[in-house]
This record gives sequence, C-alpha cells and structure tokens, in this order.
Amino acid sequence: MIAPRFRLLKLFVIVVITVILVIAGKIIWDYLGSPTGPALFRWATGRESDRSTLVTIQRERCEGAPFILPADGFIGLLYNDPNGPYSKAAPHQGIDIFSNTDPGITPVYAAYDGFITRESEWRSTLIQRVPDDPLNPRTQVWLYYTHMADEQGNDFIEDYFQPGTRELFVKQGTLLGYTGDYNGNSLRDVWVHLHFSIVKDDGRGQYTNELEFANTIDPSPYLGLPLNFNCGAQPVQCGVDISQCTVP
Ligand SMILES: [Zn+2]
Repeated sequence: MIAPRFRLLKLFVIVVITVILVIAGKIIWDYLGSPTGPALFRWATGRESDRSTLVTIQRERCEGAPFILPADGFIGLLYNDPNGPYSKAAPHQGIDIFSNTDPGITPVYAAYDGFITRESEWRSTLIQRVPDDPLNPRTQVWLYYTHMADEQGNDFIEDYFQPGTRELFVKQGTLLGYTGDYNGNSLRDVWVHLHFSIVKDDGRGQYTNELEFANTIDPSPYLGLPLNFNCGAQPVQCGVDISQCTVP
C-alpha cells in the first residue's frame, strides 16, 4: 500500500514530466516545421564537413547592395525569426552568423563606413554610427556587432577599439575582431557566432535599445541577401529576388 501522500507526490512528478515533455516537443516541432529549423538542426548535430555546406562566404558586396556581410558563416537565425529563444511576439532583431570554427578565429569586418563606439562596460560588443543611411538618405542608423568574446568574457575585439572608444571612423571592410560565444551571465550556450543588426536612431543622435524588435531594421536590402524569416528556406546568396519577402 502506498501512502496517499506518496501517491500524490507520484502524480505530481508524472504531471511535471509530462508538461516538460510537451513543451520540449512543441519547441522541437516548431523548429523542424519552420523554414529555417531543419538547417539549424543540421548545424547543431552535423560534423564540420556537413556544416561547411551551410556556410555563406560573401566577402564582396552583392550587386546594388551597400553593405558587405560582416562575417562568413551559417546564417542560422534570420531577421524576424521566431525560433527559440525568440517568439512571434518578440522575433529576432538581427541575424546570427554562426562560425564553423572555434571562438576567436572567424574575422568580423565593418559592414559599411562609419564611426565605432564601444561603451566602457561592453565586453563583446561594438556599435557603428552611419550618419547617412544609404537606403534612407538623411537618416542616421547604427550597426550593432556582438558576441566577440569567449565564454569568460575575454574579448576578441581589435585593440584600436578599447572599452570607452567613441566615434572612431572606420572604412567598410575594416577588421573589427573575431566571433565568439560570450553571452553575459546567462548559462545558455549560444555557440560561436556574430549577432549583427541595424538599429534605429532615437532622433536625438543616440542609438535605441537593440533588444526591441521595433527598434531594428530588416538588413536584407542592405546586404542584398534573403535575410528576413519571411523569405523562407532559400540559399543565402546574392541574386535571390527579395522584393516580396523583405521590408524595403
Ligand atoms: Zn542574434
């Protein structure tokens, strides 16, 4: 005979395990059902040779696009992507370019000409002011580059950009640093990648909060690549028609 107290405990444990399995199943189901999920799964589980087939190497500007891709890699989380840890209500604000290398090896380059700032407390991040948005003239925008440090927060940023750097002008293609897997104090493993986003100005000359999707801009037309989640599972390369799936 099991005492009623233990029966209740057993029932509670079964309910908790069931709820966890249902939630985990839903996350996996959503991933695999989404246009970008299967590639992300292949990246997570594949060998280096399998992963290399997912990598975009694009060092030149695509025709008609003003920016260069800031790093080579697998662009596994797109702009507007609802895959976890993001959601439909709060989708991904930029693109994640995953490196097929260890931390500190894959170079990160300035996507455009502009003025670099590194706030004094930033370990893995640079922001670049572009005074004249090439696709929206007379509007200032900001380019945000992050995760350029190892898990402990040792940075892979070039020495010119010490913490506290303000308004240092660099040309498009300037080496900024190398990709890493720093994620602040979070225990979540983020893999080695660059998170890159285009951030709106607040109208008074300051950048807005990059974590808010509404403060960011679709990078697809700037790079001439299908980088919006709405573009679906397309090869990320120049020459894809992005007019129907991106925000101009
Ligand atoms: Zn990201």
